[in-house]
Amino acid sequence: MSRVLVVEDDPQLVRALVINLQARQYGVDAAPDGTSALRLAAEHRPDAVLLDLGLPDMDGLDVLKGLRTWTGAPVLVISARRGSPEKIAALEAGADDYLTKPFSMDELIARLRAALRRTGPTSGTFGCRQEPAVVETGEFTVDLLAKRVRRAGRDVRLTPTEWQLLEILICNPGRLVSQRRLLGDVWGPGHSKNSNYLRVYMAQLRRKLEPDPAHPRHLITEPGMGYRFEA
Ligand code: CA
Repeated sequence: MSRVLVVEDDPQLVRALVINLQARQYGVDAAPDGTSALRLAAEHRPDAVLLDLGLPDMDGLDVLKGLRTWTGAPVLVISARRGSPEKIAALEAGADDYLTKPFSMDELIARLRAALRRTGPTSGTFGCRQEPAVVETGEFTVDLLAKRVRRAGRDVRLTPTEWQLLEILICNPGRLVSQRRLLGDVWGPGHSKNSNYLRVYMAQLRRKLEPDPAHPRHLITEPGMGYRFEA
């Protein structure tokens, strides 16, 4: 389930957004001003933010700049400000999209979905933007921004699913990532029991990346629990 933070001071619009987002299985937090928006975002790590610009305590652009110091989660501005200077300022401050009020709920949901697809399911959840962009081990190098893996001077081709798994593990160096979390993030919430998927894909990743796939050094199994990346 993706979590969305709604930052908006108009209670009627908040109610309409919450009802529509929850009906589509999003988890929703709502903040009526910029201060509580920044606090809720830090506490709940939303996967996306819907942000009004005209807030009672501060300008929405400053909320956006505050968010962009630590999160790459998509931010969709929803504002009554129609001018292109406002739109450009928001996009330059790191907004991913801009909807002018009044907007149709269907269009908002479509744009939210598109923004979440672009960032992928893992970036918001795991906060990997805080990790270094390039991770090196003795055997292979992963460039998280370019989405490239190199081993012995050559590019290693990964499928999208292999890449997602590897990215989640690398974003959590040295930490156990549970099977349930990997399955939920890569395959979706209905797959939390399909640990055989993980065995298959981890075996493929090891064949591509580990010098001795039967005795992995970097992609470690924690039996019955999950997996761990060690540089
Ligand atoms: Ca407002």
